[in-house]
Amino acid sequence: MSQSQESHFDVIVIGTGPGGEGAAMEAVKQGRRVAVVERLPQIGGNCTHLGTIPSKALRSAIFRMTEVNDNPFFREAGVSIHLELRDLRRSAASVIGRQVEMRQSFYDRNGVDVIRGEATFSGAQSITVTRLDNAALELTADVFVVATGSRPYRPNDVDFGHPRVFDSDTILNLDETPRSMTIYGAGVIGCEYASMFRNLDVKLNLVNTRSKLLEFLDDEIIDALSYHMRDTGVRLRHDEVCERIEPLDDCVILHLKSGKQLRTDVLLWANGRAGNTDTLGLDSAGLTVNSRGQLKINENFQTDVPHIYAVGDVVGPPALASAAYVQGRFAARHLCKGDCEQFRIDQIPTGIYTLPEISSLGPSERELTEDKVPYEVGHSMFKNLARAQIAGRPVGMLKLLFHRETLEILGIHCFGPNASEIIHIGQAIMSQPAPNNSLLYFINSTFNYPTMAEAYRVAALNGYNRL
Ligand SMILES: Cc1cc2nc3c(=O)[nH]c(=O)nc-3n(C[C@H](O)[C@H](O)[C@H](O)COP(=O)(O)OP(=O)(O)OC[C@H]3O[C@@H](n4cnc5c(N)ncnc54)[C@H](O)[C@@H]3O)c2cc1C
Repeated sequence: MSQSQESHFDVIVIGTGPGGEGAAMEAVKQGRRVAVVERLPQIGGNCTHLGTIPSKALRSAIFRMTEVNDNPFFREAGVSIHLELRDLRRSAASVIGRQVEMRQSFYDRNGVDVIRGEATFSGAQSITVTRLDNAALELTADVFVVATGSRPYRPNDVDFGHPRVFDSDTILNLDETPRSMTIYGAGVIGCEYASMFRNLDVKLNLVNTRSKLLEFLDDEIIDALSYHMRDTGVRLRHDEVCERIEPLDDCVILHLKSGKQLRTDVLLWANGRAGNTDTLGLDSAGLTVNSRGQLKINENFQTDVPHIYAVGDVVGPPALASAAYVQGRFAARHLCKGDCEQFRIDQIPTGIYTLPEISSLGPSERELTEDKVPYEVGHSMFKNLARAQIAGRPVGMLKLLFHRETLEILGIHCFGPNASEIIHIGQAIMSQPAPNNSLLYFINSTFNYPTMAEAYRVAALNGYNRL
């Protein structure tokens, strides 16, 4: 094979997070010659190394420790565990290792070239890959998929080099559990870390720049989250804006525009993310980005240069690993075949790993009311389910929103243990074409007993009886 053939690919994917992996795997399955370029030493993206996986593994380790300490049997036996963050993080490290190994095998098995180094466009059809040893490699392709992800947004006037100031990447390096923490930014990441650190008995301020937590959720879920956050001792502060951050030797002070000063051991800045586009040389490809470094795309994930696709966090919301993967597959399918009807990219569930866990799919009551849709509501409270009582985990609720006339499921909102799993039962029915998407499925089906899935029957009957 000639040099030019070796350095030319049908498709080059930049980034090996879920977006890049989805695109590479779909393109190679469609018979394309594919290369992925990754600047980190290991594949898996920020998802595996800094975002979803480490945060969920740490959460699981913290919650398992709390479960032991809260368990009356262990308490009576005098058993309690108090591990520092560095110990709890160890389980995250082992999961990351296993994820990298497994994902690397996908590329190897499918014959996708994994090229290590930083990719920069040198033209609309070519990139330069600068390897770790600074050697440069020129590659060309018919089509590119940019899946370079995002990083925490860092305002210039915040000193992220100070040992008491963290963002969601660096918080994973914290070795000892601080006594107190302020989290600035109450989006999904801020709320998840607030739940985690509060479970470690950290005195916690969660500062929200808006008037409610996670405003995109259904109001009942927002109320439940706020109630349980406060109940566990998180100090919520809504409608507050940062004036400045003053890191000192023994503490860090967050000065708010309202005049308040919050003094804690450490501060976690969790206020927004920026697309990883600054080193991509996009101008050489004829592309520009918005103020958050994100690429604009059309409904097929094509940028303004049609043979350059972009997927995942680099295109902005919903900024979820789950969505990035499907978007990657969609883009690859589109560039190979054009037909993408089978992908349901408009039905993305939300999974939020707070305490309580939250998951939802479809519009909220507020949105249905604004759109004047005639809907009814069915509830199931977990405290009334045998399975939740047996497990001693009674906090939670499943709420079904359905059309009063057609009984079509319109929205599913859930909080409580395993909410992010429970949602998918409803999703399977909700995604059926009419008339199969119907509340009657849950009323007329037999559910294992006792299960949490039974919540669907209870909620469906509860709503049906209101008609
Ligand atoms: C704390 C935290 C918790 C999260 N929890 C969840 C969750 O529970 N569920 C969920 O669905 N999502 C979660 N997310 C979001 C999720 O991690 C992201 O949505 C996901 O990682 C986006 O995937 P991606 O493929 O777009 O990019 P990424 O995973 O960010 O991967 C991008 C890759 O591109 C590489 N790259 C960038 N620029 C270049 C370049 N020029 N050349 C070569 N390589 C380059 C990077 O090194 C990186 O490996 C969380 C995020 C954070 C921060």
